[in-house]
Amino acid sequence: MSYKKYNKILDIFLNNLIPETKISVSKGNKIFGAFVLKKIDLSLVVTGTNNETENPLYHGEISTILNFFKLRNLNPKDYLFISSHEPCSLCLSAITWSGFDNFYYLFHYKETESIFNIPHDLKILKEVFKIEQGKYSKNNSYWESYSIIEDIKELQNSENDKLLTKIKEINKLYGDLSRNYQSAKISSYIPLK
Ligand SMILES: [Zn+2]
Repeated sequence: MSYKKYNKILDIFLNNLIPETKISVSKGNKIFGAFVLKKIDLSLVVTGTNNETENPLYHGEISTILNFFKLRNLNPKDYLFISSHEPCSLCLSAITWSGFDNFYYLFHYKETESIFNIPHDLKILKEVFKIEQGKYSKNNSYWESYSIIEDIKELQNSENDKLLTKIKEINKLYGDLSRNYQSAKISSYIPLK
């Protein structure tokens, strides 16, 4: 993907998804979220944030998919699916069943576990599916997946520093959100906190 696309994606994190996530976290939800862009012009179609306080299946990606299909007659293959964190096994399946042919994520499973103190993605893959270290098939006949950070590091663009500056800002904001979630989670009824 190009500089222009990643610049747009990072701006949506900063201007849309993170402010919406802040509201969701203030209600006791996790920090995860996602959004969908139109491939042809990179316009934002829908966002979605974690809403596990309402239903433990409402992960950020699931909320996004539900919002996407409220808009009728869209072909998922015409869209980019962007997730704040590498999708868990539930969301990998949901993205697959929804018909998207791609997804992009900002934070790896390892970071979800170590930085954000949420180990369930890796644990479920290991316990339920016997998949060690999150090694699911990253590209398959249904979709291709991309790490936003790894892709940006590989971009040969003189303006790459601007993207890295935005990523730093995004990291900081997710750090703040995470502290808020972690300090409030003890009193929530979410099964896997
Ligand atoms: Zn999930």
